[in-house]
Amino acid sequence: MSRVYNFSAGPSMLPEEVLKKAQDEMLECGKSGMSVMEMSHRSKDYQEIIDGAEALVRELMNVPDNYKVLFLQGGGSTQFAMVPLNLANKNKKADYVITGQWAKKAAAEAERYITVNKVASSADKTFSYIPKLDKSTFSSDADYFYICYNNTIYGTRFTKLPETDATLVADISSCVMSEVIDVTKFGLLFAGAQKNLGPAGVTLVIVREDLLDDVMDITPTMLNYKTHADNGSMYNTPPTYGIYVLKLVLEWIKAKGGVAELQKINEAKAKILYDYLDSSKLFKGTVVPEDRSLMNVPFVTGNDELDAKFVAEAKAAGFVNLKGHRTVGGMRASIYNAMPVEGVEKLVEFMKKFEAENA
Ligand SMILES: *Cc1c(COP(=O)(O)O)cnc(C)c1O
Repeated sequence: MSRVYNFSAGPSMLPEEVLKKAQDEMLECGKSGMSVMEMSHRSKDYQEIIDGAEALVRELMNVPDNYKVLFLQGGGSTQFAMVPLNLANKNKKADYVITGQWAKKAAAEAERYITVNKVASSADKTFSYIPKLDKSTFSSDADYFYICYNNTIYGTRFTKLPETDATLVADISSCVMSEVIDVTKFGLLFAGAQKNLGPAGVTLVIVREDLLDDVMDITPTMLNYKTHADNGSMYNTPPTYGIYVLKLVLEWIKAKGGVAELQKINEAKAKILYDYLDSSKLFKGTVVPEDRSLMNVPFVTGNDELDAKFVAEAKAAGFVNLKGHRTVGGMRASIYNAMPVEGVEKLVEFMKKFEAENA
């Protein structure tokens, strides 16, 4: 067996310990006599798994009691509709900061139902920075204020939250549990699991209870947070196996010392890569230094042919999925929680060798 270093933006690497545990429990989980995939979601064995997953989310993210923790389906993208359909219940208006494709898609989806005020955008420079916010552009009557916390495609992240009185909502799909986030600052947080939390198919939602009432009449039952909150995420069959693997990932995070410890490791990992990019004569990062993501690191040589050569040679050497998003070009290394420090060190060694050979 030869496992590669997988720099995919998502689905992405999972900790090997997690995969091995899942393998060990594949045929029989606990004393149940069956695989988790074969369990009724109404069984006692499964209830323990989902309760355990919720308890770990609460513990690791310090989620206060007046917030619901939900495990939903439909990916991050379904949240683009659920957020306005549930939260825009007073003035049917919300503020959005446009920091990339995911924020753009979220705003476009919200526009189908409500008035969207785009308070700022960094589209002018291919989303390579987080725009400075000017309060005078904020709506006085927005039902919520929306940000994409970490911009997976462009490699930027918010390091300072908007100063708004409106309910703050954040897409944390690509940074959940990679750095400490103060849940109390937000009305709602959501994350598709496939970047930092587990396999695709589960979406984590953390929402303040008082926001769950008065939803629009048109909100479909399955897109109503209250449906899932009132039924412990089991109104219908939840993505049972995905939630189980997510629980294993959370146990792994806890064993590592929790989110604050992972943040230190992630900062060290990102620094190795950014320090090299800043010193390299061949490669350069595409994002302004103050807004650089800890999770997604885009870089270019400035020459498309050389970029393609690098991606191909890296792949042959066991560093896969480094091709950048088509709107940025070049390369992108996604270095989520499960990417070991060693993976980043070896990538930088490889980049140095490539630089020496192609200077
Ligand atoms: C991947 C991603 C999404 C989309 O998630 P899906 O689960 O594919 O719908 C949304 N937002 C961000 C920030 C992402 O990284």
